[in-house]
Amino acid sequence: MSFQFRIAATSGKARAGRLITPHGEVETPVFMPVGTLASVKGVSQDILEELDVQILLGNTYHLYLRPGIEQVRMLGGLHRFMSWPRPILTDSGGFQVFSLNELRKVTEEGVAFRSHLDGSSHFFSPESAMQAQIGLGADIIMAFDECTEYSGDRERVRQSMELTLRWAERSKKYFEEHKHEVPWKDHVGSAGRAGTPVSPSNREATQALFGIVQGGMDPALRQESAERTVEIGFPGYAIGGLSVGEPRSLTREIVEATLEHLPKDQPRYLMGVGTPEEIVEYASLGIDMMDCVLPTRAARHGLLFTSQGKISIKQAGYAGDDNPLDPDCGCRVCARYSRAYLRHLYASNEVLAQVLNTIHNLSFYLDTMRRVRHSIELGRGARFLSEVWSQPKP
Ligand SMILES: [Zn+2]
Repeated sequence: MSFQFRIAATSGKARAGRLITPHGEVETPVFMPVGTLASVKGVSQDILEELDVQILLGNTYHLYLRPGIEQVRMLGGLHRFMSWPRPILTDSGGFQVFSLNELRKVTEEGVAFRSHLDGSSHFFSPESAMQAQIGLGADIIMAFDECTEYSGDRERVRQSMELTLRWAERSKKYFEEHKHEVPWKDHVGSAGRAGTPVSPSNREATQALFGIVQGGMDPALRQESAERTVEIGFPGYAIGGLSVGEPRSLTREIVEATLEHLPKDQPRYLMGVGTPEEIVEYASLGIDMMDCVLPTRAARHGLLFTSQGKISIKQAGYAGDDNPLDPDCGCRVCARYSRAYLRHLYASNEVLAQVLNTIHNLSFYLDTMRRVRHSIELGRGARFLSEVWSQPKP
């Protein structure tokens, strides 16, 4: 079996379980750090393993432009290329392409766009986005969807939702016909450079393709999108098109409205969220997977998440502060360095500032999710949210 989802415990609407993928198991609910260009900026793979990152996200659009899909495929796929033996999820490239605004043109066939690097012309269709993701060889890949802007134009949102449904069918058709072309096949059982296996030992293992629910901020369209995407049939479902500038109460309302219409025994992935408070909240609603650039991007700008709230380490007030960044955090940064030193590194524009800040923020997010899983396993019900924040830290 290539892909399975097993629920081990529930608490209210929240679930704790496991994704079983060709490159290993992932405990859910899970936060997936973003490694856009086959790298979590500033943090090496051995430290990611030490932090117990169980799955990484890679961006197809960026990897397609640089170093190129064919290059990664020839080198055995993304796991082998970046020496990452654990599971990987890739997005379809849709979101990034739609973020290009002036540089793209959407037709029934797909999206023409210009590279943000050199202005060169490219084209993504559901078929080529699947071909790219099969070439990269992530464990979980995503259907090609249209991400609309935050709009009140219901007809525009409906047309976009219909296009996404047609593209979901084309994505699935291409995937079913080509899923045995994953690059691991040529490297079954072989060890990566670090000595850990980077290819599944099962020669028959294939990727899992997830569908994406769209429908803007309209609960009725969300319901229709969910039901028709489930009819097409995928082993997991993502909720796309949220966290695009709408108020948080509306995000929550749409997430709840969508979850009602997704199968309870399959994984649900909320794309592109959120703050530490948000990821806890969405896990409590029954979301199993989340990803966001926030902890890593914020870290590079000196914004750090702690058990005492957000800290902007650049502030002069920390120049003489000998305390650890977060006294309740067990990460290697908080164990070793003071706020004063971290503030000095940031103010001096030292590369080490980005490295250490990113390690702490990732550690904080991963610890938060560990506590969420623990709470669900204990069946803490309605006390769930407040308890996650008041539990003793490891
Ligand atoms: Zn820390």
